[in-house]
Amino acid sequence: MKKNIINIIDEPMFEAKAYKLSNKEKIICSIARKLGINKFSKRAEKYDNEASFPTENYKDLHKAGLLAICIPEINGGLGASFKTYCLAAAEVGRYCGATALTWNMHVCSTLWTGSLADDLNMSKEFHKNHRKQRKIHYERIIKKGAIYSQPFSEGGNAAAGASPFSTTAEPVKGGWKINGKKIFASLSGHASYYGILCTEIISNKKPSQKNTLYLAIPANAKGVNVVGEWNPLGMRGTISRTLTFENVFVAKKESLMPRGMYFEAAKRWPHMFLTLSPTYVGLAQAALDFTIKYLRGEAPNTPPIKRRMFPTKQIAVAEMQVLLENLKSIWFQSISEACVDPSPQQIKRAYATQYTVMEGAHRIAQLAIRTCGGQSMLKSLPLERIFRDSRCGSLMLPWTAEICLDRLGKISLYKSGEKD
Ligand SMILES: Cc1cc2nc3c(=O)[nH]c(=O)nc-3n(C[C@H](O)[C@H](O)[C@H](O)COP(=O)(O)OP(=O)(O)OC[C@H]3O[C@@H](n4cnc5c(N)ncnc54)[C@H](O)[C@@H]3O)c2cc1C
Repeated sequence: MKKNIINIIDEPMFEAKAYKLSNKEKIICSIARKLGINKFSKRAEKYDNEASFPTENYKDLHKAGLLAICIPEINGGLGASFKTYCLAAAEVGRYCGATALTWNMHVCSTLWTGSLADDLNMSKEFHKNHRKQRKIHYERIIKKGAIYSQPFSEGGNAAAGASPFSTTAEPVKGGWKINGKKIFASLSGHASYYGILCTEIISNKKPSQKNTLYLAIPANAKGVNVVGEWNPLGMRGTISRTLTFENVFVAKKESLMPRGMYFEAAKRWPHMFLTLSPTYVGLAQAALDFTIKYLRGEAPNTPPIKRRMFPTKQIAVAEMQVLLENLKSIWFQSISEACVDPSPQQIKRAYATQYTVMEGAHRIAQLAIRTCGGQSMLKSLPLERIFRDSRCGSLMLPWTAEICLDRLGKISLYKSGEKD
């Protein structure tokens, strides 16, 4: 009896039939969910307690082919689309937020250089060169289990897209010389390559966002240092310390995107910034999963006491379910319609989605703690971690909850070029 109930609770977040998932989507999500249940959920407490990196989970992701989830099939990957990746990442986030969030940084280095880049209508020659170039990175991931991170943030306006990156790439023979600093660099000390955004210095020209380069810096390159401590509120397993680059030489072959392509992608494929949200969709589901198990007296490591008979508990669970269904619906619509050159309506919906997920996940986790009561906030139970992890989503650039509201309000009230 108990086994059946647990199976029901751990059903896929997005039922294949109801959400009309393709067979490929169904299979990839199922692999992610099974890894989550059988492996990641059991290790999550340790990574959180120790603020240690989920190295074992990455070995499992590699073995399951999931480090290559968005690498095109022709290059030996699973060839998952943006939507398929998002659905799988939500299942991972449901069992370990830090794994899902860091996996996102890694996957983006393949998704953005892969299917997103292919959508940008590059000239034939440009595209051919890019395809040749990205193969280098894809092979490292598939053959050696290389992990790529995505340290963009610098503490200024650049990660929000408002100014050029202060980290610079000075052209030198055979490549570039990199100088600068990245804060909140998840996977610090654990990635094989740091996929940084930086501004190429072009003589006699002012630094420009159009000259943004996306480069993979080998983690062991001379002049790369990981500094500062990492003892945060949540997402403790992400190890988002500070990276410094002092005259680091990077060879030309380490380019992930040619000059200008990141700028183009950010403008024309804005949903690329929605990829932080799946983790938090998973956490929202996890908070409800826990609450139902707990109130039924079935949560692991808790006494088998039922609390479900109180009307206040039933109403709170109903409220959580309403919030979750709303969050999942808008999110599913946005990840399904993500495309190059989206309409203004689609862009507005993407901002609304990011806001809804990032704030909604924490709202659901908050209700879960209130409803389950005092024991549920003990560190021995996963809800306490889910509560802390879920608070972090709204803070993440470039689409923080505040920035989403700011832009959504502005573009709803002003047509392009309008001023008061
Ligand atoms: C767990 C975790 C992991 C992270 N991992 C990574 C990572 O791997 N790579 C990475 O690049 N970053 C990462 N980040 C960093 C994140 O994206 C932000 O850069 C960081 O949280 C910014 O913190 P801040 O307080 O310095 O932001 P600030 O720049 O000081 O901004 C504070 C707030 O002001 C608002 N704001 C900022 N700029 C603007 C603007 N131009 N217009 C309007 N409002 C604005 C935003 O709402 C923002 O939340 C991570 C953050 C967390 C919490």
